[in-house]
Amino acid sequence: MRAPIFAANWKLNHGPTEARAFIQAFVARYAPRDDRTVMFFPSALAFAAARGAAGARPDLWFGVQNIAAAEQGAFTGENSALIARDAGATCALVGHSERRHVFHETDAATADKCAQALTHGLTPILCVGETLDEREAGHTETVVLRQVRAGVSQLTPAQLNTIVVAYEPIWAIGTGRNATPADAAAVHAVLRAELQRLGATARIPILYGGSVKPANAAALLAAPGVDGLLVGGASLDVESWLGVVQSA
Ligand code: PEP
Repeated sequence: MRAPIFAANWKLNHGPTEARAFIQAFVARYAPRDDRTVMFFPSALAFAAARGAAGARPDLWFGVQNIAAAEQGAFTGENSALIARDAGATCALVGHSERRHVFHETDAATADKCAQALTHGLTPILCVGETLDEREAGHTETVVLRQVRAGVSQLTPAQLNTIVVAYEPIWAIGTGRNATPADAAAVHAVLRAELQRLGATARIPILYGGSVKPANAAALLAAPGVDGLLVGGASLDVESWLGVVQSA
């Protein structure tokens, strides 16, 4: 089993004061381990406080929740991969379902963002996932395959092997209803086969996200093809996040 990735998506929570306090408490209780990678995605305005509070902990990755499809220019309110990298980010969420569904982000924009991230040295975490209606209509595979093909469409095979993919069924995000380990394993297998067809190796990391908690993290991580967890709600509290990170 490769070293699992645990990624905390704080969404629109934790300003600089809370972010600093969270990371100080976390590093006091979590010593560096080479058998896992821990990533934090604070809000853009809390990024510097969170990263600064980690001190000399290169084992912890700090990233941004979104980047612009463009590098720079007249895009008021946006943050680019170029600027995120300059600020010390090493990774970026791309195509999170809230970006797709609340902010109407298209597959084409997601492709541009993936390419932008890699151009500027950030690891993109490309998120894909179906709605409840799509699942119930039997369209899960069609939807996630369309999203993943589009998201990586501008990448070379070498770039493809440096990304992380996250399967996040939308009906499981923030709902308390997680996919079963078997549900996750089935979709991860479909995604991995497609990524391999597109030129990736079998080792490309695919995370599961959607109502992960300390109580279900170990079972989800044990599912075949689940290489880590992308976590929203349960990453907002130090105790609960430690429970997830230490579940493997
Ligand atoms: C997410 O926002 O990526 C997520 C998985 O949220 P939650 O864990 O709260 O379902």
